[in-house]
Amino acid sequence: MQTRRAPGRSGPARLRNKRLRLPRPRAQRLVQALSLTLFLGLLAAAFANLASPVAENLFLRLDPLVALGTALSARDFPAGIVPGLLVLALAPLLGRLFCGWVCPMGATVDCADALLARRRRLPGSLRQVKYWLLALVLGSALLGVSLVFLAAPMPLLTRLWGLVAYPLAALSMEKALPLMRPVADALDIRTLLFLEIRAPLFATMGFVAVFFGLVFAASRLSPRFWCRYVCPAGASLALLSRRPVWRRRVSEKCIECGKCQRACPMQAIADDPHATRHGECILCRVCAGVCPTGAIDFPVSLPVLDSQIAQPTMAGRRAVLAAGATGAAGLVVGGLGLAAPLQAATVRPPGSAPEDEFLSRCMRCGQCALACPTNIIQPVWFSSGVLGVFSPGLTPVRGFCDPHCHQCGKACPTLAIRPLPLQERVWAKLGTAEVNRETCLAWKDKKKCLVCDEVCPYGAVELKPEPGNPVYVPHVDEKRCAGCGYCEHFCPVRPARAIRVGSKNQIRLSSGSLQSAAQATGLSLSLKQDKTWGIPAGSDEHGLPPGFSPLEESGTPGAGSEPLPPGFSPLEPEPAGGKPSS
Ligand code: SF4
Repeated sequence: MQTRRAPGRSGPARLRNKRLRLPRPRAQRLVQALSLTLFLGLLAAAFANLASPVAENLFLRLDPLVALGTALSARDFPAGIVPGLLVLALAPLLGRLFCGWVCPMGATVDCADALLARRRRLPGSLRQVKYWLLALVLGSALLGVSLVFLAAPMPLLTRLWGLVAYPLAALSMEKALPLMRPVADALDIRTLLFLEIRAPLFATMGFVAVFFGLVFAASRLSPRFWCRYVCPAGASLALLSRRPVWRRRVSEKCIECGKCQRACPMQAIADDPHATRHGECILCRVCAGVCPTGAIDFPVSLPVLDSQIAQPTMAGRRAVLAAGATGAAGLVVGGLGLAAPLQAATVRPPGSAPEDEFLSRCMRCGQCALACPTNIIQPVWFSSGVLGVFSPGLTPVRGFCDPHCHQCGKACPTLAIRPLPLQERVWAKLGTAEVNRETCLAWKDKKKCLVCDEVCPYGAVELKPEPGNPVYVPHVDEKRCAGCGYCEHFCPVRPARAIRVGSKNQIRLSSGSLQSAAQATGLSLSLKQDKTWGIPAGSDEHGLPPGFSPLEESGTPGAGSEPLPPGFSPLEPEPAGGKPSS
């Protein structure tokens, strides 16, 4: 979309308010810096589970593609997407102000540009890519398949900063702390002496890092490459930005030197330097900053009264047609059943919606994984099918799901995981644990271990005598097992744990009471009253109880070779007729 040169008229038909013009480029940089700082601060608050006066997922909520895609694919308008819909609704008035001033993805790309950017003029037709991506995402959403995670900027950026940058920073600090302790000791800085840093690790970190490496490397081709050519959220705003109230105006002082065209990071200035593609312009005012005659300004022009109507270019029209065509193609694909989500074998976080609905809502932002205090929530690859890639699953090897915690439900902006009151949280049946008798120390090696019984919050592990075995062996009572993963996390057998949680018998609801649903199926999920469950005292960094060491070989899984403390020592066989020890 572009506007031709204003023909130099004045009067009410060209109502302009010169006092309401956009400020100089430095102000844009300042707002961008504040926005990125707020984004990172909110991520840090989510990471550290700090109370924040602003919703920690604010920027995810502001993403217009998240809002549009989720509303279409989930056929729902959860409160979390209202800010994004507002950004869309304001685009006809404010144009792509959001892209140029607020979006932390834009700020991050600008940082990369400052180091790497080359000003090359790439073919204008490349801009169509972002419209095609938008068409793909919206066409799929119409079918109930959410591909928002592929290209929506906020979920991608949350994954970069939250699941890659923060863990790496935390890991560096964790490693640096012991080196700083002597100094802290000498200076008596107690905070530093007792400071502990949790450095979580997430699956798919490497993939996200490589992806953003490519995004940043694209700065070598042109500045703001992502925003210009790829970002479908920007494309959705561009389609609505026909006559924003702040528009670039070029006065008769213009000497047509072409500096503004070369400086524009979005290639929003057409061959005629007086003409602007408003759908591309992010109102950064870089052109005004470089103009040697001060001919460029951004005054307010009320769209209704302005006689200068921007005409959609052929490119814009083609983009709209492309969106329609892709949506229609998507419907055909859907009709053939090719887009039907696969069934999940993944154990999902507590409060997760039923699988189809979950995948239509989840945008793979990783905010739930970031908020999880034990690191049990991890992005998965293909365990729930191609369409479930990067969605969050429980990985008990990394952590356990505390029945008193529901940070993930509070963090999720799209209600893929709904927040549960504590009373309900306890009744969340995530799956069922199963003992592998081929590797369990008690079953296979006749050793007294029984860690699973000790740590299970629900008392779902029953120890029973087994003929010919001098020790009690563990059985899982499926009616009492919530699938929280304590048993798998603390099981000392390596490399594969001898007790594992699967999605069997999981209960997932869109709405309604989990407690009622669980009781209706005969479950009896209640926490042990004696409070003896949980992390074994003295667990080491591997999550192992005292006396166990991780075994790397699968040959003889079990306790380490060092002497075991009384509670965990392998028992000698009982004398004949003796009672099995428990
Ligand atoms: S389930 Fe997790 S990854 Fe998916 S949208 Fe909610 S917070 Fe984001």
